[in-house]
Amino acid sequence: MKITQIETVHVGEFANILFVRIHTDTGLIGLGETYYTPEATRAFIHEVCAPMLIGHDARDVEAHWRRLYDATHVYGNRGNEMRGISAIDVALWDLLGQVAGLPLYRLLGGAARERIQLYNTCAGPLYARGIPGVPRKEQDLRVGDSRYEDLEAFTHRADELAKELLSEGIRAMKIWPFDPYVGESQGNYISYPDIERGLEPVRKIRDAVGMDMEIMMEGHGYWKVPAAIRIAEALEPYKPMWLEDFIKPDNPHALAELRNATSIPICGSELALTRYHARELLEANAVDILMTDVTWTGGIGESKRIAAMAETANLPFVAHDCTGPVTFIASIHLSIHCPNALIQESVRAYYRGFYGDLVTDLPRIEDGYAWAPEGTGIGTRLREELFSRSDTTLREST
Ligand SMILES: [Mg+2]
Repeated sequence: MKITQIETVHVGEFANILFVRIHTDTGLIGLGETYYTPEATRAFIHEVCAPMLIGHDARDVEAHWRRLYDATHVYGNRGNEMRGISAIDVALWDLLGQVAGLPLYRLLGGAARERIQLYNTCAGPLYARGIPGVPRKEQDLRVGDSRYEDLEAFTHRADELAKELLSEGIRAMKIWPFDPYVGESQGNYISYPDIERGLEPVRKIRDAVGMDMEIMMEGHGYWKVPAAIRIAEALEPYKPMWLEDFIKPDNPHALAELRNATSIPICGSELALTRYHARELLEANAVDILMTDVTWTGGIGESKRIAAMAETANLPFVAHDCTGPVTFIASIHLSIHCPNALIQESVRAYYRGFYGDLVTDLPRIEDGYAWAPEGTGIGTRLREELFSRSDTTLREST
């Protein structure tokens, strides 16, 4: 089963997503994906990865990961390089599943559960279309499907949103109400009045639905330790399920300081790439819940290893997705498989919206749970229409 071509697919409307398709001499095609800086990642895939893979047996998935990792570690490969390697790894596992005739979760060793609980990350349909740090263009701010403007909803009417989610069977929601107060202090400080304003959506949720809703608090890495501790103290009476990335995971010992200062579990981090960074978090006792992103951290095999490292520390594992459909589906396979998977991130505005415009099959989702697709590999393909769109860019290496 020789690799004959590496193809990248970029659809302009979904500017941050890069798909990778690996073609083989059997006619089977594996599908992978990654997110952020797609041009740079595409260049890396065609310049470095394609020549290392073409002509090789697609089934030697783990050997390819190691060859790509070893060849690129000299670049300091936790950025674009690891995104590219992740996309390729997902595509290779997809191929392996197809040739074995098994869905990915079976290939990984089978199911630890029939279904995985979802939490709703309260983003709107167009959230994360822009590039972090770069002001958005006018056309990127247009309103998408207004039924699921969950960011606007948690900001202004978190009580109604919590009730609506519960009515759909969704019993956990992630919000980031302190982000607007990073402002002038650049995360070095937060005033008590701003803390009160940030708490408002949390209070509304508890007043409306009591403890029936789990609340995950996202910090996007904006805060320094003293401000993060002040926020954590204020949140304690509301018993959030976790605090995520209130400080960056770049210094695990600083994160451990926050963990020691609060009873709220610390979750981190989708920004910690590869098992080597995950190890730093675990060795510093910095997290209660270990999170990773399948298409950033190195792919399927690397995520399984990271989950096993969390299991070794008697900690639960969670997989991130607020990005693209392949990431979401691959994460669900992992969450079905990994015995210590806790809950799976999801964005209802995405899986009921544009994910279906990009891929042929999505997981069954009901009552706040997801089931893994039963098709072979990851169980989905890119929709044919994408290849004739005027904003689609294809690049092929043979
Ligand atoms: Mg996050």
